[in-house]
Amino acid sequence: MPLCPECGVNSLFYDREVRQYVCSRCGSTYTAQELLVEREKRMARRFEESRKRRYHREYLEWWLSAKGSQ
Ligand SMILES: [Zn+2]
Repeated sequence: MPLCPECGVNSLFYDREVRQYVCSRCGSTYTAQELLVEREKRMARRFEESRKRRYHREYLEWWLSAKGSQ
């Protein structure tokens, strides 16, 4: 079962009656389509974070090497 995008830790269960995924912790409901959108958003955010981290590391390496060559 997919994790709740809201809580991030709680598994959703599928409610056949409403045809939606329900979180028993926070009460959020998601359709399969919404879950896909949420997952894409999360992946995009993760990608953006790793890009920032890489940029920061490269800057730090540049800064350290520039400092060391003086
Ligand atoms: Zn939740």
